[in-house]
Amino acid sequence: MTSLLTPSTALSFDLSLKKYGQLIDGQLVDGVDEMPVLDPGTAERIATTPVASSEQLDMAVQAARRALPGWSALGYDERSKVLHAVAEVLAAHHEELAQLTTLEQGKPISEARDDVAWSIDFTRYFADYRLDTEILRDDASSYVELRRKPVGVVGAITPWNFPLFQAVYKLAPALIVGNTMVLKPSPTTPLATMHFAELVREVIPAGVFNVVGDSGELGPLLTSHEGIDKVSFTGSTVTGRRVMAAAGPSLKRLTLELGGNDAAIVLDDAEIDKTADGLCNWAFANAGQVCVSIKRIYAPSSLYEPLVEALAQRVSALTVGHGLDPLSQLGPVQNEAAFQKAREALAVAARDGRVVAGGEVLDQPGYYVQPTLVRDLDENSPLVREETFAPIRSVMPYDDLDEVIDRANDTQYGLGGSVWGSDVERAIEVGARLNVGTSWINHHFQLTPDVPFGGVKQSGLGAEFGRTGIEEFTNVHVVNLKRI
Ligand code: NDP
Repeated sequence: MTSLLTPSTALSFDLSLKKYGQLIDGQLVDGVDEMPVLDPGTAERIATTPVASSEQLDMAVQAARRALPGWSALGYDERSKVLHAVAEVLAAHHEELAQLTTLEQGKPISEARDDVAWSIDFTRYFADYRLDTEILRDDASSYVELRRKPVGVVGAITPWNFPLFQAVYKLAPALIVGNTMVLKPSPTTPLATMHFAELVREVIPAGVFNVVGDSGELGPLLTSHEGIDKVSFTGSTVTGRRVMAAAGPSLKRLTLELGGNDAAIVLDDAEIDKTADGLCNWAFANAGQVCVSIKRIYAPSSLYEPLVEALAQRVSALTVGHGLDPLSQLGPVQNEAAFQKAREALAVAARDGRVVAGGEVLDQPGYYVQPTLVRDLDENSPLVREETFAPIRSVMPYDDLDEVIDRANDTQYGLGGSVWGSDVERAIEVGARLNVGTSWINHHFQLTPDVPFGGVKQSGLGAEFGRTGIEEFTNVHVVNLKRI
């Protein structure tokens, strides 16, 4: 289905006239160049954002370095107040930030509102977190304590699928433990991040948080910069490898959250309708542009036909349209390159399998792809083997549980996976055999600030969220006393 309503915004300012600045040392700074931002729902220019020179990147890094001693000395309670103030700013501008997210990213406004709501929740959670000193030993002869110190200046690099949320969920844990940050948004989705930076300028001390604009040149400069102590990167596996190589010479700390090719295994006692609802939801959210989307569905032969039918019905019924149209359940893909890749994936779907829902791009301005379900693919099809960052998903039958677990694990990726069934104990056992960072049972893509999230194999390095994720923004410092 296609929705044809004309989008309109409730922004209180004219976006086409708005002048964005980069946040450097508490000031909004013009770029040396400008870059157009397109609405993927119309493929038209909607705004202009600044682009930094390498000198401006240096200025941002130096500002973050200067701010570091004062910010880290401030202590948890004062830093917590600042982060709670950030959460208040997000809450006060919830709708505005959601609309900007939809306009630059394409996702339905309800999903963009979720992005902002999660940003608020994650900020509040991290604002209240403390990594207190641990006493490891305290006896007659010795006393040993473990302190957690900030790693220093964090370089954060975000992609285009959850631009604001990813910026915020890197910023809040980094700041609460005393780091400062230079953040570079993706060139195609800088708007909500720059808007957020402008808003929080009033509550975050100068230099603690810096945002630079990029048209595709800055990433390697940031990841190799001598003034950056740690890189927190979310993006593709190919780029993640480059980030790791660039960070090598100065031994920067790294957190890499990369691609995924998550499998969902349906067990033979799964309830068809509920399972189909969940699978459809977590395979097609954000037009399939989620690292932890369900990308491959495996169903037992006994349930295969009814499940494929239930999925095909749901997928065909999804309403595709501009994200600001409240009827839209699926927006466009985010950029032209992603659109071209989606076209190629649709051709592969038609060649290698049987398309049972969707299968086309929409013949209208914008980067719209019909949500597509393809069945009966061979495991060697690129649609099964590779990450498909578009609303195109596959469903395949299996006869043997051990064999399907092997198929699920037979990938270079290891981000997430899910198991769906009524016997929860059995589902958990199957989930535990997946070689991934997270196995979800009867759901998928559930990220919360208290639970670590990360990938194995080519899906990344380290984790975000939870104590594990926060600790990655710190260095261990042991104080070891011999009692004499
Ligand atoms: P990239 O991984 O190339 O880009 C992500 C971010 O990294 C952007 O800010 C980009 O900025 C930056 N970057 C690119 N090259 C470097 C570098 N050498 N050093 C440091 N930073 C760099 O993703 P794309 O946007 O090109 O998307 C391509 C594919 O990546 C998608 O089709 C999808 O498969 C996957 N992807 C995965 C995501 C995830 O959440 N895991 C998110 C987005 C994409 P710049 O372009 O300016 O260099």
